[in-house]
Amino acid sequence: MTALRPTVIRGARLLDAEARQGEAGDILIEGDVIAEIGPPGLAAPDAATVIDGTDTLVMPGLVNAHTHGDASLAKGLGDRWSLELLINATPLTSERFRLEDKYLAAKLAAVEMALGGCTACYDLFSEFPLPSPEGLAAAGRAYSDVGLRAVIAPMMADRTFWQAIPGLLEALPDALRGEVEHTCAEPGDASLAACRKAIKDWPFAKDQVRLALAPTIPHHCGDSFLRGCRTLADEFGLAIQSHLAESKIQAVVGMRKYARTLCAHLDDLGIIGPDFTAAHAVWVDEDDMRRLADHGASVAHNPTSNLRLGAGVARARAMIDAGVNVAVGTDACTCSDSLDMFGAMRLACTLSRICSPDPGRWLTAEDALRMASEGGARALGFEGTIGRLAAGYKADLVFLDLSHVRYAPLNHAARQVVFAETGSAVRHVMVGGRFIVEDGRVLTVDLEALRAEVEQANERLRRQSADAARLVQRLEPVVAGFCAGLAMEPYHVHRYADA
Ligand SMILES: [Zn+2]
Repeated sequence: MTALRPTVIRGARLLDAEARQGEAGDILIEGDVIAEIGPPGLAAPDAATVIDGTDTLVMPGLVNAHTHGDASLAKGLGDRWSLELLINATPLTSERFRLEDKYLAAKLAAVEMALGGCTACYDLFSEFPLPSPEGLAAAGRAYSDVGLRAVIAPMMADRTFWQAIPGLLEALPDALRGEVEHTCAEPGDASLAACRKAIKDWPFAKDQVRLALAPTIPHHCGDSFLRGCRTLADEFGLAIQSHLAESKIQAVVGMRKYARTLCAHLDDLGIIGPDFTAAHAVWVDEDDMRRLADHGASVAHNPTSNLRLGAGVARARAMIDAGVNVAVGTDACTCSDSLDMFGAMRLACTLSRICSPDPGRWLTAEDALRMASEGGARALGFEGTIGRLAAGYKADLVFLDLSHVRYAPLNHAARQVVFAETGSAVRHVMVGGRFIVEDGRVLTVDLEALRAEVEQANERLRRQSADAARLVQRLEPVVAGFCAGLAMEPYHVHRYADA
């Protein structure tokens, strides 16, 4: 991904969370990095390719700190799904994937993100019944082919959903219990062995597509499996991401099971460190926030998904104030419907305003931009290399079209981008100095052909999962009722709007 000739972008306005609020400036790119940024007329080598940035606002590519590429074929499958109902419907997402479906799903996600101004993501990718080196490499190849940077973290558990929530299995009528009680998760050791092999055979450059580990939800994983994840991560320098206290049900179950919060439990097991990202962290208390901060950990804040699944309102401002690095994620197409980072950024900002009447505690547009760029870079382990417009950083850039009516007039670039942008003004996207989107069209993929392949694969998958879909539907009312009961139990943290 190294550009052969130096490139200079002239005539654009520049925006990042630090200093530039849409002032005019030129960017010189050498190789795949920003060599220099300066006022218009910046000196550049004679041989440099000149990119005309007139009427564009150039900003760092957005970093999606939490998504699930395997779920991109399952758009629109559920409406009134809580997190637990979404998990109940897992057999409808990617359980029947062939190897080529894994590639296809990740590619579809990568294309959607690229077109939406996102240049890097943390993908907690699911395979069934357990991760495979081939499946992870297929997901890696999808990102590499589209041209995005990605951290691919195989999502793993050594307990089933039915085993993870005490009492749930017993709450099912006999006929339904018989349908699910025989299911069992693969042993943690088998998942870890598959990861080890994937790590050793990993064919991609680490600054482009790398691996991490994702023990999915703490109480879906036994203690020794979680410790095994930490050992493997340490051995190979991999990051770890887990869904942490996403729903109240999880928080309540965690307290029942471990007599402490899920965050305290993970901390006791040695899982939390500077390479750890907690996804969601809705139902965390102040001690949990302090623990995450003390370890230099990150949180992937997924406001769209948290609202769509009724998980509650995470306290992003409080976590930032506690010293946690907070990034922004979209979560999956099944729970945020799109991989829209602009929307997630805006919602992060506006939701902070219903958490406190004190405007001083609201997230500003610059806060949201920082979270979705530098914050994400740190969560992904790309700190200091992506997420900023600065010399020495990778040339991962988004060009927004300032001729869009939304920017007439341009008074404050950061605010207008965060509060008004939907992704519809994304004109070009560059990763490592190379365009992957130009004039709103992805260059690295034949989108029509991809759509046709997706439709074809989806038709087969829907046909094959018809029986599973009927079972999911029959299970839904019992899961919904049981989990609603758990959510009524007292907990020392309140995150519902009506609490
Ligand atoms: Zn997730």
